[in-house]
Amino acid sequence: MKDTVKLLVETNSPSGREEKIRNVILEQIRTFVDDYQIDSLGNLIAHKAGPGKKVLFDAHMDEIGFVATYIDENGFVKVEPIGGHNPLLMPSQRIQFEHSAIGTFWFESEYIAKKLTDYQQVSFDSLYVDLGVNSRNAALAKIRIGETATFHQPFLDLGTRWLSKAMDDRIACAALVETIKAIRHTANDLYFVFATQEEVGLVGAKPAAFRIDPDYGVAVDICGTGFLDTPKGIKRLAVKLGAGPTIKIQDKSHIGDYQLNQWIAQIGNQYMIPTQFEVLPFGGTDGSAIQTTKQGVKATTISIPCRYVHSPSEMVDAGDVQHCVQLLLRLAETSFPSW
Ligand SMILES: [Zn+2]
Repeated sequence: MKDTVKLLVETNSPSGREEKIRNVILEQIRTFVDDYQIDSLGNLIAHKAGPGKKVLFDAHMDEIGFVATYIDENGFVKVEPIGGHNPLLMPSQRIQFEHSAIGTFWFESEYIAKKLTDYQQVSFDSLYVDLGVNSRNAALAKIRIGETATFHQPFLDLGTRWLSKAMDDRIACAALVETIKAIRHTANDLYFVFATQEEVGLVGAKPAAFRIDPDYGVAVDICGTGFLDTPKGIKRLAVKLGAGPTIKIQDKSHIGDYQLNQWIAQIGNQYMIPTQFEVLPFGGTDGSAIQTTKQGVKATTISIPCRYVHSPSEMVDAGDVQHCVQLLLRLAETSFPSW
């Protein structure tokens, strides 16, 4: 499991440039599925045929990133975020461009003079990337305008917790990969979507779900944690690391299907797999895109709790990941009821 996670999180593939991660995932699952296709949006759709309900499991394979927009005469690079970033987290973070050039974020020095008291003024307008060069031409020898980048942070095993960039949502991709490898028999007709461009608006999942036209949809993603987990965490978010994968009651994009949620919780109880119910006061997942496809699909989201979401140091609990795989495996192998 850990090797799969390391492989996936350390592959650099931001939204719109999922080719690399798609190839890595395809190599992992190719011999374990009956067939697969890559659609026009770049979604990888794998199929494991079974007799029962058509069930779609989704994890988005893109990660948040950056795109170079301008290089000044001294070689400093301006970038635009791809997906949701907090500019306050950027100064001193290292990022890596597509052709492997590495640079560090810093911010225009007037903010040092202000000792960063005026945080509102730290924006991507005031941030730049330093590639360690002294001219535009030297920078152009390393990167091109329009070239994308991702955080440059390796996978670290801290013991019971794992730390890396791109846990969102490669940890769920890894959970699906391990589930696919472990399935011995299935009572359902299973589709696995590794979706593109979730971070820029749940783009890939909807046409993928349209194509499959499933009876049920389960997105697998990460979710933030709250006051039970970190000092002064969000008060109305009760999710914590180490208490199992979560079942989505609600976030800002959708409400998980009630009957599906109850059934998933029951499967968890039956097999002694810990789960938490999740009410997330922010964010959204592919569950919403699947739910509102065609005439509507009964859909929900299962999440792996994650600290420091959308930062270069996203942290998950190894036990939660294992329990997520166990839960997904039981769901894949158990006949989905009719409602
Ligand atoms: Zn995200």
